[in-house]
Amino acid sequence: MPLLSNVRVDIGRLMARIETLGEIGALSGGGVCRLALTPEDGAGRDLVTGWMRELGLDVSVDRIGNVWGIRPGKADGAPVLLGSHIDTVATGGLYDGALGVLAGLEVIACLNDADIETEYPIAVAFFTNEEGSRFAPDMMGSAVHQGSLALEEALVVVGIDGSKVGEELEAIGYAGEVALATLSPSAFVELHVEQGPVLEREDIRIGAVTGVQGISWTEYTLTGVSNHAGTTPMAFRCDAGLVAAEAIVAARKAAGEIGGTQVATVGALTLEPNLVNVVPEKAVFTVDLRNTEEDALKRAEAQVAEAIHEAAGAEGVTVTSRRLARFEPVEFDARVISLVERCAKDRALSVRRMPSGAGHDAQMFAPYCPTAMIFVPSRDGLSHNIHEYTAPDQIEAGAQVLLDVTLALASPDAGTKP
Ligand SMILES: [Zn+2]
Repeated sequence: MPLLSNVRVDIGRLMARIETLGEIGALSGGGVCRLALTPEDGAGRDLVTGWMRELGLDVSVDRIGNVWGIRPGKADGAPVLLGSHIDTVATGGLYDGALGVLAGLEVIACLNDADIETEYPIAVAFFTNEEGSRFAPDMMGSAVHQGSLALEEALVVVGIDGSKVGEELEAIGYAGEVALATLSPSAFVELHVEQGPVLEREDIRIGAVTGVQGISWTEYTLTGVSNHAGTTPMAFRCDAGLVAAEAIVAARKAAGEIGGTQVATVGALTLEPNLVNVVPEKAVFTVDLRNTEEDALKRAEAQVAEAIHEAAGAEGVTVTSRRLARFEPVEFDARVISLVERCAKDRALSVRRMPSGAGHDAQMFAPYCPTAMIFVPSRDGLSHNIHEYTAPDQIEAGAQVLLDVTLALASPDAGTKP
């Protein structure tokens, strides 16, 4: 049975909200900067929370500053949760995060207009500090909410500007009183821009996201001997820079050999003393490895580490390392993934299954309730970039699928069982 309802999203209303939120923290060349818990983030929160109240939602703020609004259903019970985040990186676009929250509000507006009472409640939420640009770790609000990060630990995190999470929450008026995990959804669906090039390149309208890649970040420090570039024969060098270069090649090679979804990046590298005529004594670099399969990710970690130690041994360089981040891959719920696919097909929208290359709030909920994500294309695959762009018709398609999926989950007996 098709899931089509007569309810259609109003793309004009949704785009107006995206643009209005995008004016807060707007950068002169385009894009936005609303780093978590800054006054700009506070102003964005006030705007969105105001819209929640206008739509009749019952708004709550928890102790880590996550905000949600609930639209009641016929029955009490756990709500179907829609949402994402409204904080951005320093050079953010208008869509990353904001789309999932504002499309959630569009779903509510549509249901209000059509006077539809769903069987179960629907909640729209935004989570604190998803980006992690000002305060580490990222996905902080959803991690604290779901218990994988302690509140006390999160509140004392010091940001890049010396500020503290707890104090900044107070300063912007979002140190809420509601106990953590009060919001316990029956399902979570997050609409998000892809932030990669796959949908655009394949000319596909909707991504039914199957899960989130596992992420492994390691920082390596290599220590050799700095010496004169002219007088030190090659055979007598302990060149930390050479080993760093071999590490970069080893990371690329590991990705190629492991194949599948494996990616590998050395994105940060510094040499000391970093001078034209001195053999580098020290190299500090990061290795970012990602895979949807935990076993393969572990193989990549081992292969890169072994190659670095081998190269260091041959050059007489010592190696130390520390883990910066490690998340296992997350699998989304098979039934909700299928529901996203069905809803897209019923609207004659091309759809493909795909993993997410980036972390999202949804992954924190996946172990606890049926969870999935909907992706829409990102032009040129750009994100965390002021030129991030998704066209209104693509946003409309994603928001419509979100609406259809929500109706199926919140009124499962209306002939729309997932
Ligand atoms: Zn995001």
